[in-house]
Amino acid sequence: MSRKKIIAGNWKMNTTVEEAAALAKDVAAVVGSVSDVDVAVCPPYVNLMAVAEAIKGSNVKLGAQDVHWEAKGAFTGKVSCAMLKSIGVTYVIIGHSEQRQYFGETNETVNKKTKAALAASLLPIVCVGETLDERNGGKMDAVIDAQVRGGFEGISAADAAKCVVAYEPVWAIGTGVTATSAQANEAHIFIRKILTELFGKETADTIRIQYGGSMKPDNAKELLSMSDVDGGLIGGAALKASDFAGIVQPK
Ligand code: PEP
Repeated sequence: MSRKKIIAGNWKMNTTVEEAAALAKDVAAVVGSVSDVDVAVCPPYVNLMAVAEAIKGSNVKLGAQDVHWEAKGAFTGKVSCAMLKSIGVTYVIIGHSEQRQYFGETNETVNKKTKAALAASLLPIVCVGETLDERNGGKMDAVIDAQVRGGFEGISAADAAKCVVAYEPVWAIGTGVTATSAQANEAHIFIRKILTELFGKETADTIRIQYGGSMKPDNAKELLSMSDVDGGLIGGAALKASDFAGIVQPK
């Protein structure tokens, strides 16, 4: 089964509007005409419009880092799917481990956000992954199983096929420690097995599973060569266009 790879940059809480526009222009210049890999950048909310302008006319797509599930109303600080859609956002990261760790994200809120995003024709990037304690304590499979089943509860196979899953072991995010390609692939195969149970083999085989956690130009080629690693969600290395390009087209 060949799945088109997808590389997305998660800029997290980095870049002023000027820095974001400049970085997006640089990204568009180096990978804007790539067509055999889907490429997206996910700047902070306030920089989405400037980045949309900077990547206009290129193949780079716009992503957001989170979304709220409600359509509108008294939810101070939150941003809705319709708001993202109205400024040209294509992808939305949901359930990032930093959201889970620091901001009370649960499998239930991931599920609500995923459903809302799909209803608004945004493409969710649903993040899952275990902490080091969970891995060392033999709980990795149970944690990932609950995250995938919880995140996708009540979602149809047709809608699930529009989603991307990002496997991001928490111990590898921003630490410089990368999962080995074998560890990553093993986790991806496990996630695809759960997706197969939920949605059937045909759908599960089409869902792209990205790896995230200290992916860099020098380890991207090996990770991306694995059978079930269908792309990358990139944090630190997405903040420099040349590094990001080295992951989109690894040598
Ligand atoms: C991320 O935050 O999604 C991530 C993978 O970060 P980093 O690449 O910096 O580990």
